[in-house]
Amino acid sequence: MMNEQEAKKRIIELTKQLNKYDYHYYVQDNPLIADAQYDALRRELIALEKQYPQFVQPDSPNRRVGPPQAGSNAFPPVHYEIPMLSISDAWSDAEIRAFDQRVKAQLGVTAVTYMGEPKYDGLSCNLRYENGLLTRGSTRGDGRTGEDVTPNARAIHAIPLRLRGDAPALVEVRGEVIMPKAAFKRLNKEQAAAGLPLFANPRNAGAGSLRQLDPAVTARRGLLFFGWGIGLRQGWDPQTQYELLKQLEAWSFRVDPHRRLCANIDDALAYHREMTKIREQLPFDIDGIVIKVNNLAWQVKLGHTSHAPRWAIAYKFPAREATTKVKDIIVQVGRTGAVTPVVILEPVNIGGAVVERATLHTAELVRQKDIRIGDTVTVKRAGDVIPEVVAPITALRTGKERIFHMPKTCPVCGAPLEKDGAYWICPNAACPAQLVGRIVHLASRRAFDIHGLGEKSVQQMIDHHLLHDPADVFRLQVDDLAQLPGWGPKRAQNLAAEIEQHKTIILARFLNALSIRGVGFRAAELLAKYFGTLAALQAADEAAITAVPSIGPNVARNIVHFFAEPHNQALIQKMLDAGVTIQPAKGITA
Ligand SMILES: [Zn+2]
Repeated sequence: MMNEQEAKKRIIELTKQLNKYDYHYYVQDNPLIADAQYDALRRELIALEKQYPQFVQPDSPNRRVGPPQAGSNAFPPVHYEIPMLSISDAWSDAEIRAFDQRVKAQLGVTAVTYMGEPKYDGLSCNLRYENGLLTRGSTRGDGRTGEDVTPNARAIHAIPLRLRGDAPALVEVRGEVIMPKAAFKRLNKEQAAAGLPLFANPRNAGAGSLRQLDPAVTARRGLLFFGWGIGLRQGWDPQTQYELLKQLEAWSFRVDPHRRLCANIDDALAYHREMTKIREQLPFDIDGIVIKVNNLAWQVKLGHTSHAPRWAIAYKFPAREATTKVKDIIVQVGRTGAVTPVVILEPVNIGGAVVERATLHTAELVRQKDIRIGDTVTVKRAGDVIPEVVAPITALRTGKERIFHMPKTCPVCGAPLEKDGAYWICPNAACPAQLVGRIVHLASRRAFDIHGLGEKSVQQMIDHHLLHDPADVFRLQVDDLAQLPGWGPKRAQNLAAEIEQHKTIILARFLNALSIRGVGFRAAELLAKYFGTLAALQAADEAAITAVPSIGPNVARNIVHFFAEPHNQALIQKMLDAGVTIQPAKGITA
């Protein structure tokens, strides 16, 4: 047993060690130890902190993610003494040379060194550190007043809670919160699996992630922070932008390795050309470069206009936008019944990819953007995300354009559509459009994990009347399967055996398999852990379900509706009758 002094020493040591490992993992992309070792140390620290709460360090890695906040006043305003101005955009070499001329003329010099940095397509933030400790994180807002998002900033692992090494009394570190492309793809996949709307691009997804009431959600989103500047400071006076970035790096921030010190404006133009070539290969979106006067005293001398600094300019990359015509607007029915408009475009090449359709998520969005059939529209493609219809070019209208109306009934099964928040829903659980998707989902890896039930096979079985609802999967007969075109006894037996093997399932997977709107695997895991058994969840009302961390009122309502629906009750009973066995969540006996 440790005495108090030993415990305190160990807590400080573990905090330091774990923060170091976090830094190497989240900032350097270079993990120092195996996850299991890390977890063991972390558990040791949690236990000690529980026993000796008086010694918990302010930068404890266990204090990163705090509890959810109350809805109103969650993001109070923050005023900036040094405003976070946006940087003027330029699109041509000529504009950049003109900028260089202005800078030289105003300074009365003939040579200026510039710092070239990537321009992130993210969300600018201000992080305030007092005596090395993160005391506040806030968004840029309008540049003079931002929003306090401290609990969420703390939840981003790439943001240090304590500056490494010597820190001044006060420093505001400015930079960009961004969502890497891989994290964005993963998030949209989860959204789709849960029947939730997709994010249009990493920037929107990142912004949404930073304005969460529950920091645990922010923590899961894989956000990064890149430092690019400073605001207020006391006790530290860097001379150049180059030195400033070096120091941010030393304090354990991510600073882009692609930055470059440019001896003159020609170097900066060459830097722009090189970055244009490699932008697609970067793990996150950048939309240009920023060219900054390197000498900070000169920056002060140059000052700023009412809206932008005179010492910096953004040289944007060519836009990945094109114009094309809207051939039609159709609706598609998703697995969870969401009926969404899809814009069919005349094929157009944008940055090397042919774009033929774009999703608009809701009928409301079509109305808001006023996109009509026959319109000429601008379409934008960012990285490898879903193309987005930006806006119609109204000047090109001929009067023959048609306004899109959401159908009153499901285009596939004819059931009257129902409104659910911003969405229109086909409420018919037996709707064929949903059936294929629901069965494929039921068989997917994080549900029943049945191999051999892909979209094609499922469609074939539906066409041959072997499947009428998802529960029929567990009543498939070898003889029937064997007679399907292209099958035969061997394949039929294999699939039957595969299904038989996976009839026993843990609760989280079972809940995921049901295709309840808003309940993907993560939500299913949380629900399973909280309620333990299917019966307990079925008996819960909206208030009880909302008590589960990260489960909001909309999802809670969907769950209650789902289990109240007689069709769904019959479906679950049918699965159980066919031999499906649900194991209660770990550690709970039903
Ligand atoms: Zn339908």
